[in-house]
Amino acid sequence: LSTWSAVPAGPPDPILGVTEAFKADTDQRKINLGVGAYRDDAGKPYVLPSVKRAEQILSSSVLDKEYLPITGLPEFTKNAAKLAYGGESKPLVSNSIAVTQSISGTGALRIGGAFLARFYPHTKVIYLPVPSWGNHTPIFRDSGLEVKGYRYFDKKTVGLDFAGLKEDLQNAPEQSIVLLHACAHNPTGIDPTPEQWKEISDIVKDKKLFPFFDMAYQGFASGSTGRDAFAVRHFVSQGHQIALAQSFAKNMGLYGERVGAFSLITADPEEKARVDSQLKIVIRPMYSNPPLHGARIANTILSSQELYSQWEGEVKGMADRIISMRDKLYDTLVGLNTPGEWGHIKSQIGIFTGLTQPQTKALAERAHIYMTSDGRISMAGLNAKNIEYFAESVSKAVK
Ligand code: PLP
Repeated sequence: LSTWSAVPAGPPDPILGVTEAFKADTDQRKINLGVGAYRDDAGKPYVLPSVKRAEQILSSSVLDKEYLPITGLPEFTKNAAKLAYGGESKPLVSNSIAVTQSISGTGALRIGGAFLARFYPHTKVIYLPVPSWGNHTPIFRDSGLEVKGYRYFDKKTVGLDFAGLKEDLQNAPEQSIVLLHACAHNPTGIDPTPEQWKEISDIVKDKKLFPFFDMAYQGFASGSTGRDAFAVRHFVSQGHQIALAQSFAKNMGLYGERVGAFSLITADPEEKARVDSQLKIVIRPMYSNPPLHGARIANTILSSQELYSQWEGEVKGMADRIISMRDKLYDTLVGLNTPGEWGHIKSQIGIFTGLTQPQTKALAERAHIYMTSDGRISMAGLNAKNIEYFAESVSKAVK
């Protein structure tokens, strides 16, 4: 008998399954809206020109391949924190932010989960928005936290269930941990307004909740890295000690390079030093130290004024292309007299929008259009060539 004969087969990854069905389809018109990665207007993966330039600079420099420190490339983490918190941020200026490089956003969340499980001095329960990114629950559960939910999405209005959100946060036990998507909520594409963020910040303060921000799309939502950091910076300005997971997968298109950062706001440099020392002890047995190349790319961009402004333009270009696809999709659906209310397609933020499950099924079966079965659509998969076919197919599917 094999040692592993009792291992049950796990369910397939819902997103990878979509890609496989797409690949097997031989129809010319087929569209894959399952992957959450940006595509250019020809439907191809996009390497940012600023990233290519950074790589040229790196390849012409004399660099070794020595290990990074456990918490990564120090200049990179400094610049990543500055990008998120803003150069004027009080805890940044007073050297009170403990920050470490991470294996992209997922790794940042995992380090945060493990650190909280070990050191958070109150009940180790984290509240996630319902729905949330599918990996949040297993990440925090595997980190040793108990996972619960707070209301977020209102199916009837295809908008934020703000009353439900407030009620659930107010009713959560004091000092619970609450996960907040900093911008471009995945999968709903619905974010609180700045006024709503201020109210959320007040509730978090009243109830002494611990805010853990996941910022996987800074710049990708509005086209401006500063505007997309509003919630994070507002919370910090209100004196919240936040945890923050950052990813450079989307905004620099560095998906497979796995570039991210995890940070915690501490009281002062002395406390920061103690937290830093424990972050190292959390990370060392997980993967020893992070990969080098992606952090060098990101740091080359973040530390050069010229490359930085080029990059900002490219982030805006990606965001604008998606926003223009939203406008075009809305106009075409309305132009075809498609039954239903489609305003949310234009008001949503980031790369995702949604359809119902029966619509999704009809699109896959009749129109060669693939997406995750919860109806999440990656807008990045739409382009000038396929958007009309897509809109017509949706229109048919709902009629
Ligand atoms: N958080 C959210 C909400 C995401 O959508 C993603 C990626 O899809 C991530 C975190 C982490 O991605 P990565 O580990 O590639 O940075």
